[in-house]
Amino acid sequence: MNSAATVALPITPPASITSLIGGKRMPAKGPLLPVTYPANGQVVSQLAEADASEVDLAVKAARHAFDHSGWPQLTLEKRHAMLMKLHDITLAHADELARLECLNLGVSMRELRERHMTRAAYNFRFFAEHISHTKGQVYDQSAGYRSIVVREPAGVAALVAPWNAPTALASMKVAAAIAFGNTCVLKPSEQTPLALSRFVELLHEAGLPDGVVNLVNGRGPVTGEALVAHPDVDLVSFTGGTITGRRIAAIAGERLKPVTMELGGKSANIIFASADMERALDAALVGIYANNGQQCLAGSRILLERSIADDFIARFVERSARIRIGDPMLDATELGPLASARHRDRVLSFVDVACKEGGVLLTGGGRPSLGGDLDNGFFAEPTAVLAPNNGTQVCQDEIFGPFAAFLVFDTYDEAIAMANGTSFGLVSYVWSDHLPTVERAVRDLRSGVVWVNTPMVRELRAPFGGYRDSGLGREGGEACEQFYTEVKTVTVPSSPVTIRKLGA
Ligand code: NAD
Repeated sequence: MNSAATVALPITPPASITSLIGGKRMPAKGPLLPVTYPANGQVVSQLAEADASEVDLAVKAARHAFDHSGWPQLTLEKRHAMLMKLHDITLAHADELARLECLNLGVSMRELRERHMTRAAYNFRFFAEHISHTKGQVYDQSAGYRSIVVREPAGVAALVAPWNAPTALASMKVAAAIAFGNTCVLKPSEQTPLALSRFVELLHEAGLPDGVVNLVNGRGPVTGEALVAHPDVDLVSFTGGTITGRRIAAIAGERLKPVTMELGGKSANIIFASADMERALDAALVGIYANNGQQCLAGSRILLERSIADDFIARFVERSARIRIGDPMLDATELGPLASARHRDRVLSFVDVACKEGGVLLTGGGRPSLGGDLDNGFFAEPTAVLAPNNGTQVCQDEIFGPFAAFLVFDTYDEAIAMANGTSFGLVSYVWSDHLPTVERAVRDLRSGVVWVNTPMVRELRAPFGGYRDSGLGREGGEACEQFYTEVKTVTVPSSPVTIRKLGA
């Protein structure tokens, strides 16, 4: 463990964060909400909350840009060139963005710089390339007619983002929305506004026309609801918790707005005795502790075949206890603080829950003692419990922290029943070198993604999203194309057609 006496802030942030609408920073007028550095609990900035009238301005700016800026009509070459500029500027500022993100999220700088910000930049390159390869459809089977199917920008998109990977996830939504010619209003989580505020500023510095991307900040029920309910918003892309997703989908449903919902998970990481144990162990640790354990696609239920369970758990516990917790600015740090004190307390409260329902605490379960300022931070030890069965709360609730629940199975059918036995269905992991077992599991698992013998890999070309309570719709190349465009069928006769002469 690190034992820094005082913690240096990763960067000096702006004193306050306000909306950015039509290319202009708004003055702070709403209530001010504190922004906190999770590594030492210090308030580092303030967020000016946008109320419904400010959200209205943002949506109007997006609508105006959609109708008058020429963005939807831009030639492919020009849009491609602009997206590449957005890629370049994001990459050029990766260190600054990572520092800002670290300051309100607490994920290690190394992870933020090397994974999150490179991904944020790549999102623009990916969609720049994708739009260069979109295809249309032609139907000419009906004699005398040809019908073509064209896709058009859908309009103004509301993009509502979570706090666990703010820039990496929100940039995907922004890149997809604008690549297909839409304009948008982004609402980051009120907990993590810092990097995204600078990010939207950078997009303008790179030359993006005013009003194409607008930013509003504030709490979900205030700013978020005003945005998704706004009559001039045409579609809503949401990433966050399942309960929030239901609320937003209901609001959007009343107004018949299309939505994508990327929601929570309680993913199974199934490790059969036929797996490569060393690799499965490395991946299980990454699967639950990466991003400080705060990831929708975490392998948070680790299902072990009985013959390997004792050995696997012993080695997992030994490695967990050696994970380096501490200052997220240090390259050696493997686990930083959780995003807030309230979230840390909730995560750790599951230790009591586990014990009351007959589980066994295997490792961690408390607040580490790190010394100095870090003791005011929101740290939780890497934690694992052995659960008596899959029906327990630790196996059903999304804990969203460095907290693994182990389950032991005897047969293939038992493993699959456990894996599928939650209300979620985001991702599943399967570890086995026995091909027939892998093929069967891939077929039987009820989740939007199955990763075989690998930790998480996000293939942007392929659809990503969940079954059941894990979501609605998909994100990814073609999935985003379908979501962010309206489809129009145009039918033209290939030669003059005979028309009935009514009233002749
Ligand atoms: P959250 O649902 O609390 O908040 C997400 C966003 O919604 C925030 O911007 C919040 O302000 C806003 N919001 C809250 N209430 C709202 C309302 N009534 N109307 C409009 N907006 C509202 O989620 P979170 O705590 O920020 O993120 C963690 C959750 O996100 C976890 O459940 C995690 O699994 C999920 N997540 C899913 C994916 C995925 O791709 N499936 C990725 C990352 C995170």
